[in-house]
Amino acid sequence: MVPVARRMDLEDYYPRDLIKDLGKQGFLTPSAPPEYGGPGIDLRGGSAVVVEELSRYSPTLGFITEIVNDNIVYALLRYGNNRQREEILPKVASGEWVASYALTEPCCGSDAAAIETRAEKRGGGEWIINGRKIWITQGAYADIYLLFARTGPREARHRAITAFLVRRNDCVEVSRLEMMGMRGGAGEAEIKFNDCVVSDDDVLGNVNEGGFRIAMVTLDLARIGISAVALGLSQGVLDEALEWAKTRTAFGKPPLIDWEWIQFQLADIKARLEIGRTVTYKAAWLYDNKDPSFVLYASIAKLYTAQMAVDIARDGVQILGGFGYSKESFSERAYRDAKVLEIAEGTNEIQKMVIHKILMRGLPEVEL
Ligand SMILES: Cc1cc2nc3c(=O)[nH]c(=O)nc-3n(C[C@H](O)[C@H](O)[C@H](O)COP(=O)(O)OP(=O)(O)OC[C@H]3O[C@@H](n4cnc5c(N)ncnc54)[C@H](O)[C@@H]3O)c2cc1C
Repeated sequence: MVPVARRMDLEDYYPRDLIKDLGKQGFLTPSAPPEYGGPGIDLRGGSAVVVEELSRYSPTLGFITEIVNDNIVYALLRYGNNRQREEILPKVASGEWVASYALTEPCCGSDAAAIETRAEKRGGGEWIINGRKIWITQGAYADIYLLFARTGPREARHRAITAFLVRRNDCVEVSRLEMMGMRGGAGEAEIKFNDCVVSDDDVLGNVNEGGFRIAMVTLDLARIGISAVALGLSQGVLDEALEWAKTRTAFGKPPLIDWEWIQFQLADIKARLEIGRTVTYKAAWLYDNKDPSFVLYASIAKLYTAQMAVDIARDGVQILGGFGYSKESFSERAYRDAKVLEIAEGTNEIQKMVIHKILMRGLPEVEL
């Protein structure tokens, strides 16, 4: 993964073969049960351990994995009918099909209840979909989209949104976008759906109320996945900083690690990382044990670890000096990659809104 990860960043290269390998080895969809081609491990093992370890070397691959696993596989497992699960899950799990989660639009990201992409019902159980999605991870390469569309009036907001499984064909128009970090697949496409035809059988969950619920449930899970990306990325920065400080000399006093400032910086990074790890694994454990308070801890973990990763990556660059600012170092890439963790799967501000709402009204009803 290490050389590929570097190439992904430098050339904005999408590692199709590596994604297939991850699929074959069960890393791409850790939560998919064996009958659908995955290893079937729980959230703590999958979205935490697997995503964290991938992100230690390639935060982009960790990010892609968490989206496929938490946003798409969980949605199919929980809301898919037998046909959808049997046809789609094995292909996604094996890496044969690339799957994207298409919720965000140019009009609206945080305010997902305002999406404008429309699905109109016509005779014979057919739906016609028109609209635009933006910042869609793996969107340029997707064979299938889990797409959210409006199926009623705008004023009905979240009560008129439905989820569809849309196969890629000529009705899908893709424009590539250049991103600051997570290059090589993440957030890199704007997608137009022009008169795409799907059938009743491609609806995931219930028409109208079902779509928004699926989006919210999967976003809750994905917050644990994003936290795991933050942990792996930060661990990679710490590994690099530690190695560098052990060998780098300055002012004729080898090595750098003998300076107290460096020792305190490294100790501080480790302390923050372990706090983030504890709350992330607690959130995953609560989910695996069907405890509704996982929603609160998932938001706390995401809020804390995303900020933590940005801070740790900045500190890592500082410890490495000029090398840290060069594209030769992991920390340089990590610094750019980390920023999106404060934006995707619900921004930091949205996490604060969730936490505040729970403080005021208690836990929401959660489907577990
Ligand atoms: C690399 C990358 C990958 C992505 N991958 C996907 C993907 O695969 N699928 C997908 O559907 N989307 C994806 N996204 C989109 C991402 O989920 C959205 O960018 C995110 O939800 C924020 O939405 P927005 O960009 O529209 O910002 P906005 O919602 O316009 O927010 C702008 C700013 O205003 C703040 N804000 C908004 N509302 C409030 C409020 N009520 N109170 C206080 N502050 C507020 C936000 O926190 C933010 O700081 C990706 C984005 C990136 C960058």
